[in-house]
Amino acid sequence: MRRTLIKSATVISMDDAIGDLGTGDVLVEGSRIAEVRPSIDLGSGDAEIIDGKGRIVIPGLINAHMHTWQTGLRGYAANWTLLEYFRRMHAGLATVFRPDDIHIATLVGALNQINCGTTTLVDWCHNNPTPDHTDAAVRGLIESGIRAAFFHGSPKPEPKPGEPHFSEVPHPRREVERLLAGPLADRDGLVTLGLAILGPHYSTLDVAMHDFRLARELKLIASMHQGGGPVKTPGGWERLIEAGLVGAGINIVHGNDLPDDLLDRLVDLGVSFSVTPENEMIQGHGFPITGRLLKRGVRPTIGIDLESVLAGDLFSAARIALSMQRALDNAEARQANGAIPATTTIPVREALRWITTEGARMLGREHQIGSLAPGKLADLVIINASDLNLVPVHDPVATVLMQTSLANIESVMIGGAWKKRNGQLLVDGLETKKQLLAQSGRRLVQDIERQGRVA
Ligand SMILES: [Zn+2]
Repeated sequence: MRRTLIKSATVISMDDAIGDLGTGDVLVEGSRIAEVRPSIDLGSGDAEIIDGKGRIVIPGLINAHMHTWQTGLRGYAANWTLLEYFRRMHAGLATVFRPDDIHIATLVGALNQINCGTTTLVDWCHNNPTPDHTDAAVRGLIESGIRAAFFHGSPKPEPKPGEPHFSEVPHPRREVERLLAGPLADRDGLVTLGLAILGPHYSTLDVAMHDFRLARELKLIASMHQGGGPVKTPGGWERLIEAGLVGAGINIVHGNDLPDDLLDRLVDLGVSFSVTPENEMIQGHGFPITGRLLKRGVRPTIGIDLESVLAGDLFSAARIALSMQRALDNAEARQANGAIPATTTIPVREALRWITTEGARMLGREHQIGSLAPGKLADLVIINASDLNLVPVHDPVATVLMQTSLANIESVMIGGAWKKRNGQLLVDGLETKKQLLAQSGRRLVQDIERQGRVA
């Protein structure tokens, strides 16, 4: 069995029993972590030895929400509000995607996630007009080598005459069953299935009931956007709760406008929440829900949401969520007391949890990923803490969360296999992939303009 030993690194395990090791070793055997200790002596055993001096080892990051199919449109939607985004992306550009566009966007988007230190990506794919589009997305994820939860969703075009509005269309059971019988049959595989459903904010009550039941029957996570634009089914959550359909395995994205009493009930039922802080602030969702969750004793997970709007690195997203919430807390304290608060409300380690252990919990995989501990899958990141922007390290968690950028992500391992080493992504034909992505992005914009529509 292949063995890798990382020696004499600073280890931030995010495992409560192991904690942080000022100087520690991490032993990987096959696809799993075998040991995390201050010093591991292999004796005569054979292993690849990595010198960890001046390095910080952390668990691979978990990006809880991203529409990877939009990678070819990077920055294109940066000046759009959410309403413009619905019209110009979902009812516009999304409709001219071919399977090849989905494939290259998903592949390059996922590779960039690995490059940025993400080892598990929740790919919330809601541009699946045909099975070919879906298969192209799944193929892109598999080719990238990232660990992914492919959340299958439906497109949102303007209905043609005689067609129902998307809010009236139940999630396609047959397509979900096809995926479970085919490419995503292995529930412990590198790419697994979840459902990206409309939920009560974006669908009729009948459709929401159908989709929640489908997810429960097939034992799949059901994730949905909550907020932005008018509510399709007011009181929908209450009806779903009454029907006993809301609990663990339900994931709410955004949720900015959820009233306090409903949020109390959802938290009590074990629903998970994904915050996409930068996009929420940019597009008009309102302030992120982070602090309202923390007050109720639960943590958010963090997602990027849209590379068509902003950058894909998760450290930035966590940092923005943290800063935003501290700003709100500080403003509240200043208003109440007329002075700057004596201590800060959220330590930086909290924010590191949001993009590691909490992401794992959201996926129901906390026993497998999200922290460095014996028996867990070997998903890890090595940060070069000797870099110009990181020395000296006084508090490794602060260095990681507040100062680390893409430039410092030296190596990334997923399931015991290196995906990035010494600053280089280990992938063939990257230049060609970038060119294909650029061609795809240009063609999408041209196609919509050729139809006489604003891209
Ligand atoms: Zn989203």
